[in-house]
Amino acid sequence: MADQVNTLPFFYGNITREEAEGYLKQAGTGNGMYLLRQSRNYLGGFALSVLHSGRCYHYTIEREPSETYAIAGGKSHRSPVDVIDYHSQETDGLVCLLKKPCNRPKNMQPKVGPFEDLKEKLIREYVKQTWNLQGAALEQAIISQRPQLEKLIATTAHERMPWFHGTIAREESEPRLQNGSRTNGKFLIRQRDLNGSYALCLLHEGQVMHYRIDRDRTGKLSIPDGKKFDTLWQLVEHYSYKPDGLLRVLTEPCPRPDGETGLIGRPLLPRDHPGLTSALSQGPRHNTTDNLNPYETRVPNNQAGGKEAMPMDTEVYESPYADPDELRSSTVDRSQLFLEDGELGSGNFGTVMRGIYKMRKTEKSVAVKILKNDDNNPSVREEMLREANVMQQLDNPYIVRMIGICEAENLMLVMELAELGPLNKFLQKHKQTTIKNITELVHQVSMGMKYLEEHNFVHRDLAARNVLLVTQHYAKISDFGLSKAVAEEQNYYKAKGHGKWPVKWYAPECINYFKFSSKSDVWSFGVLMWEAYSYGQKPYKGMKGNDVMQMIESGMRMDAPMNCPQEIYEMMRTCWTYKADERPGFTIVEPRLRDYYYDIAQ
Ligand code: AMP
Repeated sequence: MADQVNTLPFFYGNITREEAEGYLKQAGTGNGMYLLRQSRNYLGGFALSVLHSGRCYHYTIEREPSETYAIAGGKSHRSPVDVIDYHSQETDGLVCLLKKPCNRPKNMQPKVGPFEDLKEKLIREYVKQTWNLQGAALEQAIISQRPQLEKLIATTAHERMPWFHGTIAREESEPRLQNGSRTNGKFLIRQRDLNGSYALCLLHEGQVMHYRIDRDRTGKLSIPDGKKFDTLWQLVEHYSYKPDGLLRVLTEPCPRPDGETGLIGRPLLPRDHPGLTSALSQGPRHNTTDNLNPYETRVPNNQAGGKEAMPMDTEVYESPYADPDELRSSTVDRSQLFLEDGELGSGNFGTVMRGIYKMRKTEKSVAVKILKNDDNNPSVREEMLREANVMQQLDNPYIVRMIGICEAENLMLVMELAELGPLNKFLQKHKQTTIKNITELVHQVSMGMKYLEEHNFVHRDLAARNVLLVTQHYAKISDFGLSKAVAEEQNYYKAKGHGKWPVKWYAPECINYFKFSSKSDVWSFGVLMWEAYSYGQKPYKGMKGNDVMQMIESGMRMDAPMNCPQEIYEMMRTCWTYKADERPGFTIVEPRLRDYYYDIAQ
């Protein structure tokens, strides 16, 4: 498919969003002028950039598992060209009809993105080995952290290449190249020092040639007077098809001696990324404290300042029961639970305390919701048991997991700890948080919500106060007190009557017909987005519930928060589509946010 697209005059290959905007704006002001480019986020996908009223709009065309193509949530087509043909006739959600292709300038070939396929394989392999993840946990890690992983891979991928021999001396490299086949162009790269200087060692007519590779002040790598590269693997790729100053092209990677596989020496790894150090152990992530690899660093849950920590670096990315050696049980033995001083929060049920839960192999820091002893109010107890029942059925990295129920002096709900607390409060205190960081967190919430939607649960209390932070880069949805499982066929929950409801977060159908579905959660998600991008402000400030309902009924919506990106505000507005049927679900909202996040994170 890519080959066919390559011949299209309006296909630009691997150009950035900004470059696309440049080409479109240069080409004129015509509404509906468009170009196609390779998606920089989705393997095998494309991006359609459209000019309308002087602004550019970008749509991802995803390659679906069935080898068809579609704009997220839209109709499937056999090829990206069919998608374009279709949208020349039908806007179907696009800002306008596609009217005129913006062709590449003369002599410009579509830009080729280096190592797209290889990169994908490396990321997967990297996440698998570093965090010992598989299945859904692996996929979710890649989706939520792709920009960070791509950066890591770009700078460390060479360590996994057979041609990279680590910090060996020049004298040691020569016999390695002379050993076995002595093909011209056989090569290896060794590390010369820790300042980013390497050597390319190349076999030529039985002799080993050594070329220095130095890093300049901007971090670019090159052989003396040679082309500059961001990464060693790009350099190798380049000299594999072009000698470009070398005595010959690189042909055959010289394998490392037997037993030296994968990662080489510790000092090669950047010190600021904890996940990288755990990669060295190459063993399961579920080490007990005693047998930790001496190089492995645990990342404390509260690493607010540790901006490089990824969700997978924390203790709560996977369920504590993902380790087969930990027996899954919905009850927690009181003798294994130690409550600590200091309250994490409180509600009408009682308090939430911090604690330690001693499991078979590990000790976990936990949050314990303690029901206050109030004999007059059995319904609160029932409510808490209902919440536990819902939580027990959920297992997703972006949802607070229940560890178990403990019946002792009080009824206690033991949960994963999300130490940095509610998102709204965090943002109120940390006004310097970047839009990229907020988008990362909000996108994670959409991933958790997509999971809930797929599993037929409605949350019914989605709000920034109910998103808890594990780190500044890791959000989890909490508070399932109002949540309900819904029947697959009916897909909504009908409340018997009006309750103590968070009306400002509720869609019109919740208030008017007591109908709750994933679509009404999407409405709440829009309000949550508004709260996040306004740094924890209260929505509809100073207004009464009734006034808010009237405002919504009259077609008005909240204004964009100050400095909120236009794309994000448009997403909020779509979440606030009046009719539930016309409102997108999380299967559409999540990839849209993802797309935007990748675009600004790159
Ligand atoms: P809730 O009634 O579930 O919203 O809990 C009340 C407050 O307790 C929250 O706003 C948080 O500040 C705190 N809290 C609840 N669950 C957790 C948790 N799992 N980790 C950390 N703090 C929590």
